[in-house]
Amino acid sequence: MQERMFELIDIINEADYNYYTLDNPTITDQEYDKYMRELIEIEEEHPLWVQMDSPTHKVGGKVIDSFTKVNHKIPMMSLSDVFSESEVLAFGERIEKEHVHPQYVCELKIDGLSVSLLYEKGKLVRAATRGDGVTGEDITHNAKTIKTIPLKLKEPVDIEVRGEIFMNKATLEELNEIRKENNEPLLQNCRNAAAGSMRQLDSSVAAKRKLDVFMYHLPNPLDYGLNTHEEALNYIKKLGFKTNPNNRLVNSIEEVLQFIEEKAAMRDSLPYDIDGIVIKVNDIKDQQKLGYTAKYPKWAVAYKFPAVEVLTKLNDIIFTVGRTGQITPNAVLDPVIVAGSTISRATLHNEDYVNDKDLKIGDIVSIRKAGDVIPEVVEVKKERRTGKEKDFVMIKECPMCHTPLVKKDGQVDYFCPNDSCPARSIEKLIHFASRNAMNIDGLGDRIMEDFYNFGFIKNINDIYYLKNHERDLIRLEGYGEKSVSNLLDAIEKSKENSLERLVFALGIPHVGEKTAKILAAKYKDLDALMSADNKDLVLIPDIGDIIALSVYNFFHTQENIDLIEKLRELNVNFKYLGSEVKEDADFSGKTFVLTGSLEIYTRDQAKELIENLGGKTSESVSKKTSVVIVGANPGSKYTKAKELGIEIWTEEEFKEKIDK
Ligand code: NAD
Repeated sequence: MQERMFELIDIINEADYNYYTLDNPTITDQEYDKYMRELIEIEEEHPLWVQMDSPTHKVGGKVIDSFTKVNHKIPMMSLSDVFSESEVLAFGERIEKEHVHPQYVCELKIDGLSVSLLYEKGKLVRAATRGDGVTGEDITHNAKTIKTIPLKLKEPVDIEVRGEIFMNKATLEELNEIRKENNEPLLQNCRNAAAGSMRQLDSSVAAKRKLDVFMYHLPNPLDYGLNTHEEALNYIKKLGFKTNPNNRLVNSIEEVLQFIEEKAAMRDSLPYDIDGIVIKVNDIKDQQKLGYTAKYPKWAVAYKFPAVEVLTKLNDIIFTVGRTGQITPNAVLDPVIVAGSTISRATLHNEDYVNDKDLKIGDIVSIRKAGDVIPEVVEVKKERRTGKEKDFVMIKECPMCHTPLVKKDGQVDYFCPNDSCPARSIEKLIHFASRNAMNIDGLGDRIMEDFYNFGFIKNINDIYYLKNHERDLIRLEGYGEKSVSNLLDAIEKSKENSLERLVFALGIPHVGEKTAKILAAKYKDLDALMSADNKDLVLIPDIGDIIALSVYNFFHTQENIDLIEKLRELNVNFKYLGSEVKEDADFSGKTFVLTGSLEIYTRDQAKELIENLGGKTSESVSKKTSVVIVGANPGSKYTKAKELGIEIWTEEEFKEKIDK
């Protein structure tokens, strides 16, 4: 562990040098933040190991010798980062515990480089970078080329003001167009472009780069008779500085969350890059009471937007066999957080997909969550190849039963043609018990695989005979009488499911959840569906030739007919119950919105319960919303519901209404 700590310190120090001194980052901000968090965690666990010069204690950059050095009278600090709504709420709680006024100024976190501007009698005398926070670099010659930095203020005051120099997105594009034509290396992003321009000895470079500035900080407002940060911002503006029009004073941490949500939505349409929201306690005396750490003020925090696309390493490509026998290559990745959840696997679909993307094992790849749900590999970063990467080779045999793989006519996918391939059997069983199919709690992927290997469950009907192995199960590691009895109860309960779940669970090729529902609603019971003719099936809206034929063939295959007979003997329900929506006065005709994390139900369960009682669900709160159901750590939907005076239920209240 201590070794890892030193390793992290080296990685971060090197990244800092490339980023701050050379303006040429070699890793992404997300990678950097991940290393920093890991280091913070180790240091928190082992305070005695903490090094005096740990990067967790010092502000960013080193000063290049060729610049004149400048000492900041009041240090220029960094900001501590938070990455989730709950961390913002925790910041609010910490602040309010100190009995300070819970009033905050929310600002956009402009992705540029910070600058300190010093004026004497209203005239610009010095501009400096942040450097290591205590010593910066004199960049007055470059700052003077920025049109929005006033050379003379509207009042002849002595003052230091701080802010962020940045480059607009459109300017970066224009510059890169020209660089492309001239075969010059492209500028990586707006921040590096701005920082690189400002840290040039020749000011003609900065002059050509159309840089801009927003000022956001007065280090000593009380000296000017200003008692709040808001007043300081107004004063700065009055002096002739450019401040950001999005700054907003809010009166609660819930309003902060609302600001975050609002600005995250407009992020792409802003002309400049922002990487988060800065939240600052408004009252200056309160700020002083809260104080500072060696690196950060305690009265402010930077909420960083979740990364939607991050870089990570492709450690391996492994193959899985689906229940239809389809072989899928999967990326095994260094775990990384994307849009709030940890990703370590991503599907690579098929051989062509891997080859089109030119993926090699060991590559650095960018990952994104498509539609915010399914992780996908976007592209390989070829510039980060070391030469040690290994070529991808498609397998020729099933990784489970070693049967040679086949390709179906005109398709890109390979299949294992062995109907009794164990991998396929396990996948079929997993699918049958899965949440959206028979929804058997406690019979997830791993457990099903174990039970298959122990020989307890080889076929679907064996699931319902698992009770015969009750004694063996109780003896298994990790099981006890209680968990076995819960599992067996869940299995018994699944017999009562409505028909559409069973139809989906059977794993009929091409029949997804939606089609299963259409078929169940149309035929009302399994026997009627089994005897449906191919021609009748095609007449149903949304059912095409391929599905109709697949359904027909499935129910005319002896093996499937036998399975269904066994399920009948086991009293598995064959009837459609879904149409019987039980109208309930608390739910019927009402629109519900769920927010926060639910603990009693999953989101899907809660939605199903609402719909079964005649209600509707929606994703966003509006005047049309009837009730908002609130779980733990609710977000801005809760705030909005309160504002609009919409009825609010806790999850417990929701449960009481369901159970009544
Ligand atoms: P930071 O970027 O997390 O936050 C502090 C900075 O935010 C301030 O110094 C200021 O310049 C800026 N800022 C923008 N708008 C502001 C506003 N309205 N009010 C106050 N400040 C505002 O901290 P940092 O110390 O500058 O940099 C650390 C971050 O930089 C890391 O979290 C990482 O994302 C990135 N970084 C990346 C690498 C890399 O190799 N990729 C290396 C070092 C740092």
